[in-house]
Amino acid sequence: RVSKTPVTRLLDNRKAHFGKNLSLSYRDPIPMDRAAFQYMYDSRGNTFLDAYNNIMIVGHCHPRVVQAGRKAMAKLNTNTRYLYESLETYSTTLFKKFPPHLNKVYFVNSGSEASDLAIRMAKYHTGKDKVAVLEDGYHGHTQGGIQISAYKYHSKGSSGRPDSTVELALPKVFGSPWKDDGSAGVHYAREAIEHITKSKGEIAAFIAEPIVGCGGQVPLAKGYLEALYPEIRSQGGVCISDEVQVGFGRLGDVFWGHELYGVVPDIVVLGKPMGNGHPMGAVVTTTEIAESFGRGPEFFSSFGGNPVSCAIGLAVLEVLEEEGLQEQARLTGTYLLTSLNDLAKKHEVIGDVRGHGLFLGIELISPQGQPKTQLAAVLKNALRDQFVLVSTDGPFDNVIKIKPPLRFNKENADELVLKIDAILSQNMVIK
Ligand code: PMP
Repeated sequence: RVSKTPVTRLLDNRKAHFGKNLSLSYRDPIPMDRAAFQYMYDSRGNTFLDAYNNIMIVGHCHPRVVQAGRKAMAKLNTNTRYLYESLETYSTTLFKKFPPHLNKVYFVNSGSEASDLAIRMAKYHTGKDKVAVLEDGYHGHTQGGIQISAYKYHSKGSSGRPDSTVELALPKVFGSPWKDDGSAGVHYAREAIEHITKSKGEIAAFIAEPIVGCGGQVPLAKGYLEALYPEIRSQGGVCISDEVQVGFGRLGDVFWGHELYGVVPDIVVLGKPMGNGHPMGAVVTTTEIAESFGRGPEFFSSFGGNPVSCAIGLAVLEVLEEEGLQEQARLTGTYLLTSLNDLAKKHEVIGDVRGHGLFLGIELISPQGQPKTQLAAVLKNALRDQFVLVSTDGPFDNVIKIKPPLRFNKENADELVLKIDAILSQNMVIK
């Protein structure tokens, strides 16, 4: 198909009407036109394999989800100040994924809003102000979100860590002197507790992702949350799990990331895949915390939990179940992880392959331990030129992130690995 919207015109328009910090993926930006399941199609007629968009958990434009949205939009769209069946049906279905005591939900429209609200609730409930976060963590773009996101408050032009935020070392095993046999977790937790205790003020909350996405797909060392959660609680704080990137079955073995570590948070933050592209977020918490929060002003979100969002969210949960996508994430993820580990034996630059299910990271590093940032950019862009989409992240931007729609299959995994292999073989000299 001949493009009706030349890339140059679209680029000019961006320059004219959008800020410089609205970034574009890839050296050669893609004029996207359509998408279906794990494939995306540009306006030049190219097909891309999407190994990168974790929002489209059941697949781009999944017909069941599209149809649910269409039907609901044609019937009723209103807000939570009215009674309607879909709010009940959706929340009841969602609660089946949580233990019985996590039985209160607040619907919003994005992950940022959800984490912002979670912190507000924690402060309200505890009457305290200090929030402990992880190094390289990201939780949202609101004022409150930035204040708890080391990934952002340390970046250029930012004002640095706020006084009320305590930043804990990322409990990362790769590159540390410890093994993931519990010793790393215990060490990091001990350090974290000391840091929290010594810092000014009293702790309201500890917030972390179960696998730190922006930090470079870093699973938390085993034993870390198990040791830290009880300590946070004994100091009067609450524990928040940000499941925005890893939730909804992506990790294969578990539906929620915190389950990997055998802990149960007091507040869970949801977003991205919840609406498979439709803007949805939520905070799930206990009766006790909701009661404290309920003593404050009315909570209202104009769009949060509206009938269209509820219909879409329900369709996502149903499709996940009916198509066995969590199991597919487990099987394909295990297969891909094994293939990537084999590839690491061939290419010395692959320092670490990590993650769970279809949430994986490949860290590129020199034998001397220097991050291979440039090579990561070359690999990402070369994959793009060969019609496979991945991203890079981590403090040195040297981690390839893989987090595709869960329809991703073994053939897709083989294509990805084959192409990474060929590109790395041709670019061994790049830093
Ligand atoms: N938490 C995490 C872990 C995220 O990755 C993101 C988005 N990248 C957010 C919160 C914020 O979500 P949103 O972009 O939907 O506001």
